[in-house]
Amino acid sequence: MAELPAGHVPLKAGLFGWLKRPSPSVDHALWLEVRASTPWLRPLEPAREARLRELSATFLLQKTITPLAGLALGPAQRLQLAALCCLPLLEFGRTGLQGWSQLLVYPDAFRVSRSHTDAAGVLHEYEDELAGESWEAGPLVLSWADVQADLAEPDAGYCVAIHEMAHKLDALDGAMDGTPPLPRAWHRQWAADFQRSYDAFCLRVDAGHEVAIDAYAAESPEEFFAVTSEYHFSAPGLLRSEMPEVSAHLQRFYGNTSP
Ligand SMILES: [Zn+2]
Repeated sequence: MAELPAGHVPLKAGLFGWLKRPSPSVDHALWLEVRASTPWLRPLEPAREARLRELSATFLLQKTITPLAGLALGPAQRLQLAALCCLPLLEFGRTGLQGWSQLLVYPDAFRVSRSHTDAAGVLHEYEDELAGESWEAGPLVLSWADVQADLAEPDAGYCVAIHEMAHKLDALDGAMDGTPPLPRAWHRQWAADFQRSYDAFCLRVDAGHEVAIDAYAAESPEEFFAVTSEYHFSAPGLLRSEMPEVSAHLQRFYGNTSP
């Protein structure tokens, strides 16, 4: 091939090169700090870790993180929240961040007022204490104390950030039904396998049997998806032995949790 004259800039790159924006990145030292304090990041193979770094940088660009009620969050803490929220997107990709823009963080579990009218027309009003909440097309809300409690016991089956992100993924196709957007054939198989496991789990909970997975999963199909997602990251072996079909779908959807 003929050598190009010195200083020659190929036309394409010369005219359009500026259009290619560099991928967002995060500070290396900050990333190492977050990696060291976030047990679920340590087993990631290099390619997945690089992907998580890029997703986390995109998260920090796209989302406003607002600490509330006197909480202060430094750069490492913000990056840790971004990384936890992006962990379920390693296979799905950055489109999993669509549809919302605010992450609100309370120092501790927060109280919300609820009301519902029952079949007899009676209005019930009560307060709930929450570790996290995901509004449909609205903010994602987390309790910082609960996020840290999850990290202190990384194999206990709990991860509120993953739970709320599973709700965000579930909502992407416009229906909160325990099924995220998937190719058609996979969607059909997922819906059938999850329904069967959910029904069997509800029967055991309703009969008062001991269950190895948090009974909150019996609340609804969307909570079943969110709770089993937590187990996929924090107690994958337990999920595999209790619900092999659900575990296999989550392996494919989220990727392997260990190298
Ligand atoms: Zn939930």
